[in-house]
Amino acid sequence: MADHPETLAAENPLLDRSGLPRFDAVEPRHVEPGVRALLAELSSDFERLEAGVEPAWESAVEPLEALGDRLERAWGVVRHLMGVRNSDALRAAHQAVQPQVVEFGIRLGQSRPLYDALCALRDGPGWSRLDAAQQRIVGLLIRDARLSGVGLDGEARERFNAIQLELAELATRFGNNVLDATKAFALVLRDRDEVEGLPRSLLELAAQLAREAGLADATPEAGPWRIGLDLPCYVPFMEHGRRRDLRERLYRAYVTRASSGSLDNTPLIARILALRREEARLLAYPDFAALSLASKMAPDVAAVERLLEDLRGPAWAASKRDLDELRAFARERSAPEAGDLRLWDVAFWAERLRESRFAYSDEDLRPYFPLPRVLDGLFALARRLFGVRVTPADGEAPVWHRDVRFFRVADEQGRPLAAFYLDPYSRPGEKRGGAWMDECLGRSRLLAPRPGGVRPPVAHLVCNQAPPTGGKPSLMSFHEVETLFHEFGHGLQHMLTRVDYGLAAGIRNIEWDAVELPSQFMENWLYHRETLLGISGHVETGEPLPDELFRKIRAARTFRAGSDTLRQLYFAGTDLALHHGFDPDGGETPFDVQRRVAETTTVMPPLPEDRFLCSFGHVFGGGYAAGYYSYKWAEVLSADAFGAFEEAGLDDAEAVAEAGRRYRDTVLALGGSRPPMEVFVSFRGREPTSEALLRHSGLLEGTR
Ligand SMILES: [Zn+2]
Repeated sequence: MADHPETLAAENPLLDRSGLPRFDAVEPRHVEPGVRALLAELSSDFERLEAGVEPAWESAVEPLEALGDRLERAWGVVRHLMGVRNSDALRAAHQAVQPQVVEFGIRLGQSRPLYDALCALRDGPGWSRLDAAQQRIVGLLIRDARLSGVGLDGEARERFNAIQLELAELATRFGNNVLDATKAFALVLRDRDEVEGLPRSLLELAAQLAREAGLADATPEAGPWRIGLDLPCYVPFMEHGRRRDLRERLYRAYVTRASSGSLDNTPLIARILALRREEARLLAYPDFAALSLASKMAPDVAAVERLLEDLRGPAWAASKRDLDELRAFARERSAPEAGDLRLWDVAFWAERLRESRFAYSDEDLRPYFPLPRVLDGLFALARRLFGVRVTPADGEAPVWHRDVRFFRVADEQGRPLAAFYLDPYSRPGEKRGGAWMDECLGRSRLLAPRPGGVRPPVAHLVCNQAPPTGGKPSLMSFHEVETLFHEFGHGLQHMLTRVDYGLAAGIRNIEWDAVELPSQFMENWLYHRETLLGISGHVETGEPLPDELFRKIRAARTFRAGSDTLRQLYFAGTDLALHHGFDPDGGETPFDVQRRVAETTTVMPPLPEDRFLCSFGHVFGGGYAAGYYSYKWAEVLSADAFGAFEEAGLDDAEAVAEAGRRYRDTVLALGGSRPPMEVFVSFRGREPTSEALLRHSGLLEGTR
């Protein structure tokens, strides 16, 4: 295929594919010309591929992997820099070419000639010569093309495309209505007594919001204070505001957002549900839930319902106990509302109880978790569990900021396996919030730099923890440590893959309800005493975390876990019921469905006027439709995987190493080359059960 990396790359480092990306040389001005030139080249290559494609692996799949990789090697760099070295110039360049990149991706995924060739490959004599991983790759390419409508003709195709467009538009309008309705409401407080109990950080925020709304003299000390319905205001006010009447007003406004007037999402919900059902039927699925599950690990609706029901019983009982505890605690504190706790009292009293029970703060923990100490501990754990050695290789790869570290991963014999970048600190001016793992390069035999070899995977681990100050290293909160372990877990699955086909290596091709398995799995280790003490070391004295603090951390893990679980089941159950069994043209409304599900998933029933569906953005404005259950599904997998180590004995080094090697050879090595259930069973020896998750959450009888 035509490809002139040398000439293009000489002028544009973005297109240099000779080694690791040149993060130090790529500038915003390289993006537009580079991506446009690349897309032009890829488009003509793709046309040629479509014209001559044969029903064979080498003809249909390999060129697709190579094309996708060439795009990703440039576009992945742009996407990454958008996250870690953002600027107005980069944003403008990104925006200018993004539509064409998206369009090209759709063209690749919806190509009819390619689809026909893949189907012919599946149905022809060459099929049996493909190995299991190749067969799965072809199967999933066909499935994804089919789900995007490639198999439809004539009127059906036109209708399908029209539905897609309308659904995209409705999702945007739904989200905008929620945003506008959230912005439209605020309590403006002028009296000191109205803000009693609020933490300093909220007073500062509320005064700033008041100033932005035109109250120029607002100060954190004297007000006025503006309290809105966005989470940074709403949550701390409900947790700390002493004025019960104000909590009630805020609560009522919150649960009725976007449910009346010009911002009413009610008609949008009805339309979205009807269109989704029609879309599913065009693709020959009985309902939208079946369509959603077609690309997930959960085999069918019944399996999801079983999971939700498994968790519901114990969560219900625990949630009732949680509520009784709150009532008793409020009585103890002689609160007038103790005999009649309402929905707007729960968060407030839960916070008081938390304070009295676990008197420690993040600030108490930070000195015990300096980043260098935590990294040493994490790498030692990786070596114990998986037999891999992580060594610093700073300076061996170009980086985008001086704080970015580069590490290499090798096996016990020192043979190189992979590498990763770690960008640990928050840089508000140019770096997106949150934490994530991303691919830099994927493992691939086809794209090996030398024939017969393999291209090793390279990962990005990005966190946003406190930067070093005052000559001290970065001191991490417990949550920051948890986040680092989480992202490292994703990274391990990307880096320790043994799959040679790029389209199924590492995290590629993994069903999204299974993708959080290796990440959440790593978090579990922080509740193992020896592991947590082993990664701790006081920044001044080197002392490990005191036992008393460890015990509090472990106890806090299960605090109100029943109530939190039940809330997730309420959301997941409502989402599922709306996309399965509910008739948008029938007599029942979506709110009837919500109330029906609430009867078995809330211990304090929602208000009759509750319209939380009107702001349920995950399901009506985002990608979680008939998929909200995924949170719990993946948690069952990760907890049960950790359960195998508990059964082996967490303090038995040999047994842990043995289980770790098995985990590495299955979950981490097989990636997307096998169905996720098969991968799980090959590690665990059986299908997953929810026992371990219930136990970790303190929801099994006798474990509280
Ligand atoms: Zn994750």
